[in-house]
Amino acid sequence: MPEINFTEKVRELLSKREGVHTAFVHTYGCQQNFSDGEKLEGILEQMGYTIVDSAEGAEFVIFNTCAIRENAEKRVFGNVGILKKAHEENPDMIIAVCGCMVQQEHIAKKFRQSYPFVDIVFGTHAAPRLPELVYKHITAKKRQFDIGEGEGCMAEYLPIHRDDDMKANLPIMHGCDNFCTYCVVPLVRGREKSRLPENILAEAREIVAAGYKEITLLGQNVNSYGKGLENKITFAELLREVNAIPGDFRIKFMTSHPKDCTRELLEAIRDCEKVCNYIHLPVQSGSNDVLHRMNRRYTAEHYMELVDMAREIIPDVTITSDLIVGFPGETEEDFEATMELSRKARWSMTYSFIYSKREGTKAAVMEDQIPHDVSSNRFQRLLDLQTEISHEINASFVGKTTTVLFDDEVDVGEGYISGRSYENLVVRAPRTDVQKGFAKVYLKESLGWALDGEIIKTEEI
Ligand code: SF4
Repeated sequence: MPEINFTEKVRELLSKREGVHTAFVHTYGCQQNFSDGEKLEGILEQMGYTIVDSAEGAEFVIFNTCAIRENAEKRVFGNVGILKKAHEENPDMIIAVCGCMVQQEHIAKKFRQSYPFVDIVFGTHAAPRLPELVYKHITAKKRQFDIGEGEGCMAEYLPIHRDDDMKANLPIMHGCDNFCTYCVVPLVRGREKSRLPENILAEAREIVAAGYKEITLLGQNVNSYGKGLENKITFAELLREVNAIPGDFRIKFMTSHPKDCTRELLEAIRDCEKVCNYIHLPVQSGSNDVLHRMNRRYTAEHYMELVDMAREIIPDVTITSDLIVGFPGETEEDFEATMELSRKARWSMTYSFIYSKREGTKAAVMEDQIPHDVSSNRFQRLLDLQTEISHEINASFVGKTTTVLFDDEVDVGEGYISGRSYENLVVRAPRTDVQKGFAKVYLKESLGWALDGEIIKTEEI
């Protein structure tokens, strides 16, 4: 039997209705999820929807959810609830929820039982079947659920609607095998699976040909890229191949797991002129006891060896990190070890979070959960220390010259345009001096949280 083209069928249905059919994808969480959200937008566009940047008045709203923290989950329930009235007033409106949250049984059940106005609920792996779910929902006027088993990743060759005109995400792998005891990712996104290098390189060439200036290679643990592929290739080798693509662009990647970070990778960063001098290397804690209970499989000493090696191999490298405060059983002494590691590692920036208990993880049932006021106090102390260090790192770059991709990512005040340097520092320059795109910049002053830059004209280089 010939395969039914549900995308075409939805297009036909929409063409019979008047007006522009708008769709909004509300994505929560990590960059990987944003990349998935862009694919959902691509699928929606193929069905005949026009992508808009707000849920207000949209005919189709998809909540692409994140399960990493409890707060994000609460926000999703709140935001879905807000649309109940709009859904009642517009019988053609479709509300869908997908992503990591709904891969958890108790959440899917909650949407099924308590949110009858949610029309479609689907897991990440079911994205290619979205047109079929939409078609069946419209024609049968029934709610659609497609969560079951499957790879927790987006299939190859899906259309994509890129939200940014300068920076493109490029997933190189999906899922995770590490089972950190606090994390739901392996439970909701499945086991680690690397994409074929030829598919990644083909997509990278397309991105460059389309004029994008920055590619971020994405994976939960890019350092273990290549595991399980028939033709073995390491992440460092992949990085060198992406770097060899001709064009005016730069390369970033995230996230690196310290246990798999190698000298080979650090040397590739040094050798590849398009790869930024920047590594995001999440440590999570400075206490070996806590790291052990988190199942991170490295020690604070090993982490520091990596930091020292990175600084020895890559000139002017900056390192950022993720930290969790208040992990079950974290003593004041453990927390002090984290403060001590911050002083030694001197990250240019950190993403710190108070531990969030996630159902189904090993940490959720560990004894000695830390009271919120204790965690909040530690969190604030860590933040204060990091602010000081970040300002010092920014100040240490004053007087240097670097390349900045100006794209207005950060609001840096009227009359200024912002960008990130090759070392991932926030730099601003007067709007009158530079347009969006790459520019050589002299870093003349630190503003603490950012640097004031002076554009070096081409003839001065
Ligand atoms: S490495 Fe650990 S924290 Fe990161 S996604 Fe995998 S299990 Fe979660």
